[in-house]
Parts: sequence; C-alpha cells; structure tokens
Amino acid sequence: MNPNRRALLCAGLGAGAGLVSTGGAVIPVAQAETCDRPPVGGDWSCDPIVRRAAATDFGRVISRTPRAVHRPSSRADVAGLLRWASKHGAKVSARGQGHSIYGRAMAENGIVVDMGAMSAVGEVRPDRVVVEAGATWAAVLEATLKRGLTPPVLTNYLGLSIGGTIAIGGIGGASSSHGLQTDQVLELDVVTGDGRELTCSASAHPDLFDAVRAGLGKCGIVTRATLRLVRAPAHVRRFQLFYPDLAALVADQRRALDERRFDQLQGAVLPDPAGGWRYQLEGAVFHDGTISSGHGGVLEGLSDTRSAAVIMDLTYRDDAHSFAKFQKLLTSNGQWLHPQPWLLTFLRGSNAQSVARAILDELTRADVGPLGRITCYPMSTMAVRTPQARLTDEPVVFPFNLIRIPASNDPSSAERMVAQNRVLYERIRDAGGTLYPVSAMPMSSDDWRHHFGSAWQPLRDAMQHYDPANILAPGYDLLDRT
Ligand SMILES: Cc1cc2nc3c(=O)[nH]c(=O)nc-3n(C[C@H](O)[C@H](O)[C@H](O)COP(=O)(O)OP(=O)(O)OC[C@H]3O[C@@H](n4cnc5c(N)ncnc54)[C@H](O)[C@@H]3O)c2cc1C
Repeated sequence: MNPNRRALLCAGLGAGAGLVSTGGAVIPVAQAETCDRPPVGGDWSCDPIVRRAAATDFGRVISRTPRAVHRPSSRADVAGLLRWASKHGAKVSARGQGHSIYGRAMAENGIVVDMGAMSAVGEVRPDRVVVEAGATWAAVLEATLKRGLTPPVLTNYLGLSIGGTIAIGGIGGASSSHGLQTDQVLELDVVTGDGRELTCSASAHPDLFDAVRAGLGKCGIVTRATLRLVRAPAHVRRFQLFYPDLAALVADQRRALDERRFDQLQGAVLPDPAGGWRYQLEGAVFHDGTISSGHGGVLEGLSDTRSAAVIMDLTYRDDAHSFAKFQKLLTSNGQWLHPQPWLLTFLRGSNAQSVARAILDELTRADVGPLGRITCYPMSTMAVRTPQARLTDEPVVFPFNLIRIPASNDPSSAERMVAQNRVLYERIRDAGGTLYPVSAMPMSSDDWRHHFGSAWQPLRDAMQHYDPANILAPGYDLLDRT
C-alpha cells in the first residue's frame, strides 16, 4: 500500500464512498483516481484521502486541495517533478510537517511535495551534520546529542521540519546569541523552480542561498542542509519568574538581556484564570551539573514575585523536548485539533512596551484561549544575518506572538480572530513592527512588498531567475498571480 495512504489510514482518516469533502470543495473520487501521473520518480498519489490530508494544516483555518501528492525519495525525483511542473505551469508546494497556520504549504489543484521520505540524518561531525530537509529538529537533535552536540538554535517545538523552518527563519530561546536557524546553515542542496539541482552557500550561488533562507520557499525546494553544531550542555536550570504588570516584566527582561544573564531568555503574557493577565519571564542557564544554589547570581536584583518563582533542573534533552508535555495536554483535551489562528510579529524594542500594552488592554482571555499565551520578550538581533528575515531595524526586537488556542472548535470564532489578526498586524506595522510570516491572515502582494522592504527586489530577482514560471509555494502569493 502507498505509504501516504497507510499513514493517513492509521490516523483514522477513512474515505467516504463516492464523494470526499475537503473543507467545502467536493471532489468526485472517480475523477481523482484517474488523474495522470507525470514521468517522475517517487511515490505519486491522487488518492482523495491523501489529497484531503494535504488540504489542511495545523492552523485548520483554510483548506486548498491539491490534484496530487508527490512523495520523492531523492533530489532527482524533486528535480524531475519541478522540470515537468514548470513546463506545464502546475503549482507546487513543499510540505514538511504541515505546521503552517494559513495554508502556506498547500497548492490548490497543484502538487504538494511531501518531504517525509527525505528525512535521513547523516553522519554527525564535530562541527556539522548533513540532513535531508524532511527530517524534524527532534530527529536531528537525537542524532547529534549522541555525540554531545546540538544545533545552536532549536525551536521551542521540535516536531517541525528542517525545510519548513529554513523557509521562514526559525527562532528559539537561544536566538539572541545565535540568531535564527537560517543563520546556522552552512550549505543547502536546492532544486530550483525550473528544476536545476544546485548547491548553495555563502560562497557558492550566494544569491540563491540568501533567497532560500527565510525566502518562503519561493525559489526552490531544499532537499538537504548542512547545519552547524556546537557542544551541547548537559543540564539546564530553568526559571519561571512572575511579575505584577507588563512594565515590571519588560524592565527585568531588558536588564537580563543587557547583562546576558541567561543562555535562553523568553517570556509571555498568560491568561489569568482569576481574570486579567499574568506576566512571566522565562530564563534558562546551561550548566554541567555544578551550578550553585544561589543560581550563579542570575536572579540578583530582579523584581519578580519571588515566592511564585518556579525553578527546575532538567537535562538539556528533556528541556529541549518540554513543549511535548504541552502538546500532550492539548491533545488529551482535543484543543490540539482546534483551529489555531495565530499571529506572530516583531515589535521594535523602542516602543514594544507601549504597543504591547495597548493591544493587551483590548484583548480578552477568550481571544487567546485559556491555554493560549502571548509570547513577549526582548531579543537581540546582533546575530541575525539572514537577509530575508525581517526583524525591524533596531538592535532589540520583541517577538510578540498571539498563540491562540481557542477552547471551542467554532469556525466563526476562528474567522473573527483572523480578522482581528489583520487589524492588529496593521497597527503593529504602523508602529514599525514586522511580521513573522507564520500568521493566519490574508496578505496582498503590496503587503509582502512592504514586509520585505529593501530585501524585496533581491527576492523578486531571485524568483524570476530560479522560478521563472512562478510555480513554487503558492501558499505565499507574493505576486498576486494565480
Ligand atoms: C506548535 C508549533 C510550534 C512552533 N514553534 C515555533 C518556534 O518555536 N519557532 C519558530 O520559529 N517557529 C515555530 N513555529 C512555526 C513553524 O516554524 C512554521 O510554521 C514552519 O514553517 C513549520 O514547519 P513545517 O515543517 O511544519 O513546514 P510546513 O508547514 O510543511 O511548510 C511551511 C512552509 O515551508 C515550505 N517548505 C517546507 N519544506 C520545504 C523545503 N524542503 N524546501 C522549501 N520550502 C519548504 C512550505 O512550502 C511552506 O511554505 C511553530 C509552529 C507550531 C504549529
């Protein structure tokens, strides 16, 4: 049996007889089953169940049904597909783990390239590892930790693919020191939109290297990445500190950042079950098992409500996987499968507090859900060198993310949140902030041009050069063309 179909059947997505509904569109099975397979290697499926799965994503807000799902097992398979697709004008979208929020890995009536069979993790060397782009960060970390090594920046959730985060940047608690995941990529194997197989880096095809990292998948499909590695700490002491208000939280976060007190610094505004918000700083110190009970002075002079502080010692591995506990909770109460209309942005360091305060004053607990949160913390942009990542022009930015986890499965409430995202985005943009392009909200070509700013022309030139037929990543419609 086709492995796509087997996996999806195991997930309990059984097909109905005769007609399959895919988020509103009804596809006659007979038409789907007779679709033509182009002369390309790898698995090819027009199975309605497989296509229906590729018509949704983690966000569960919109649905776009592809005409087929291609599952390549080699770079040559991807190249064959893209040569055929560019000749025939078929839209193509790579799909890693499908954790996009707003259809970014979908291709209406086009081809979704499921990278799941290209997920090998190669030999771990002292400073690098070569991995296939469909591998997850969890798999990469598992392999590198066996040699006491780690990628310098890990996303909070490790169930994302290498290709999926390279397409957008990849931020984690260590980004202040090490930039984005795209800053830690040494070399990429890419198949361009017109089917060329190229290897790019800072010295080979640097224009492609710059256009692919955080370039939203518009110039090529990454098949393999060489990632930088550093020594992994053995342990992490994690601090959750609580504050009575936003001003106190931000003051201590800024101080902690300026004084480089933590190896990882994040924080969030959480819905308080008693009403209003709770303000949390989250810091982590790496150590090899010998940190003092005074925590090396990292808490000295901070103004948090110390009696509420939560301090934990974890192995580096367990700490990196800590999102899994939250995922388990959301899976057990069904909320992991609810619509997730997230908004992810960056505020300028100079006005972050006032912009965040004004937005928080208007939001309610229901706007993020009882288990949702608003990520809010300062991050230094010193180490960020990815040209297509747009993080404002200031040395400190605040990732400000509405991680909405609605308590109900109600589509109308998700629609309301998408509309609210748009209003909030415009306010943030008008205040000099930028978008992390993983957000649930429509964007026009003018919006994208504004978003990329000085990086727009190089990206456009690269798109014209490497994907002249404009077939790639239709989920990011930068040119408003269909
Ligand atoms: C629960 C959760 C936690 C998250 N935590 C973080 C976090 O801590 N930090 C952070 O930065 N982000 C985070 N994100 C956002 C996440 O990084 C992005 O949504 C990412 O794009 C998803 O990766 P994926 O493998 O699921 O990609 P997909 O959703 O499958 O694809 C995303 C985009 O990348 C393109 N793409 C995928 N593979 C390739 C490839 N091989 N070559 C070229 N383009 C490709 C797709 O075409 C699409 O446009 C989180 C998202 C979720 C749902």
